[in-house]
Amino acid sequence: VKRQAAVIGSPVSHSLSPALFTFLASKLGVRDLEYTAREVAPESLGFFLSELRSRAEMIGVNVTIPHKEAMLKAVDSVSPEATGVGAVNVVKAREGELIGYNTDVIGVEKALDSARCEVRGKDIWIFGAGGAARAAAYALGNLEAREVLFFNRDFERARKVAGQLGSRFPRTRFHAVKSLEEVRDHVFTLVINSTPLGMKNVPAPEGAFAELSYLRAAPDAFAFDLIYNPRQTPFLTRATEAGWKPLGGLAMLIHQALATWEIWFGKLTGPGQYESAYADLESHLLDTLEPRPAIAAADSKKTRHAAPQTVFLTGFMGVGKSEVGIALARHLGWSFSDTDKLIESEAGKSVSAIFSELGEEHFRSLERQVVAKLSRSVRAVVSLGGGALMDPESLAKVRAAGAVIYLSAKPDTLVTRLRNSAYKRPLLAGLEPEEQREKIQSLLEARRPVYENATHTIETDGLRPQEIVERIVKGVLAK
Ligand code: NAP
Repeated sequence: VKRQAAVIGSPVSHSLSPALFTFLASKLGVRDLEYTAREVAPESLGFFLSELRSRAEMIGVNVTIPHKEAMLKAVDSVSPEATGVGAVNVVKAREGELIGYNTDVIGVEKALDSARCEVRGKDIWIFGAGGAARAAAYALGNLEAREVLFFNRDFERARKVAGQLGSRFPRTRFHAVKSLEEVRDHVFTLVINSTPLGMKNVPAPEGAFAELSYLRAAPDAFAFDLIYNPRQTPFLTRATEAGWKPLGGLAMLIHQALATWEIWFGKLTGPGQYESAYADLESHLLDTLEPRPAIAAADSKKTRHAAPQTVFLTGFMGVGKSEVGIALARHLGWSFSDTDKLIESEAGKSVSAIFSELGEEHFRSLERQVVAKLSRSVRAVVSLGGGALMDPESLAKVRAAGAVIYLSAKPDTLVTRLRNSAYKRPLLAGLEPEEQREKIQSLLEARRPVYENATHTIETDGLRPQEIVERIVKGVLAK
């Protein structure tokens, strides 16, 4: 009798697992393994598990949607990772006993290790808060990251997940992010996409992951997409444009498959055995997977109107260029970039470090290059650094490329909006509110001629970011 294993789920027909484990068995000389995909509806899970317990030839299963959570309660014992993540994705059957594991955790740890992405003491941003996000966050807790921030469509879900993990890993702070303003001082070593946006058959809207351009990247910071099919995803493309180093989901997939193998058949301890199984599986999968991303419908749409194709936002610090820019990009399905963030990630230093170590002139020349590059983009929203338009060459380029919108605000509005971050602004640090107001007033006066070069002005006093977006859409972009 052959030994049997299966992937169970519903739907399950698309699963890569049968091809993957059959290939691995042939490479590792296991001739008597039969691996199948079994469609198991939620109401049939109990019946399937009694079969798994009673048939000695069945060595275990991989578990996929919708059984990963239910399996946690159905098995006899559970690994710490599976308990912590709240999901079982591998079951080992032994003499009628079922043990549940979660191999996504080790998959993430090994993928980061192979990429030489060191997260101990570092800050990490995660898009999504589902099962894969929890596994990644658990791995980051194991690796003693400093802070793990979840950014999720459903904020409450993220808050809950952060709470659960926080009680398990005292050295790591887990936190759900509501507004980008909360992270303006964070420097990220790693950003992770754990949403399905960009998976085969799940197009990512054009504005998805616009936050990538806003987040500050540490030198050599990685963007890790857990998606492995296709290999090149919209998340990775956008991250690379914003200066992050790309890491696709394939390494995680392979490491978690090898971890599954080791649970069932024992450790691959022969010299170079693990590495060569990895390499074989990788080249096998590279032949199987789609190389390119699913294109969102909007990507392929030709634009029919003659309205500007690029919007540059300018204005005083604190006026809300980034917040408005991201909301506008999302509304339009365009990309978002921030010149200061791009300069920082290209130089591997903060703007203030560039100023103090290399001088303002150097900063301005980096800024000129970044503005020149961005003025060639289309369907893009660009937030310009406060002084970018003082350079005549940059000014000419952006005016030729699209709409240049000055977001204006009265000094009192700026004082209010800067209330929580003034201490970090070199120009305002240490001043009382009234002194700040005066300082802002005089800076605004000095910069007026620069801002007058904008093609449009929007008065933002008393408006929320969404209302500013509406004014731009109606007043500038509607033609
Ligand atoms: P999941 O539990 O269903 O979680 C999905 C997450 O994505 C949720 O946070 C959800 O937000 C968010 N999301 C879904 N659709 C969205 C949309 N249209 N806009 C914004 N956010 C959206 O799924 P999962 O099991 O974590 O899997 C997620 C991804 O990880 C999949 O693409 C899978 O292929 C990948 N993965 C890869 C590996 C590997 O080995 N490389 C292993 C496991 C998973 P809400 O909470 O707001 O619904």
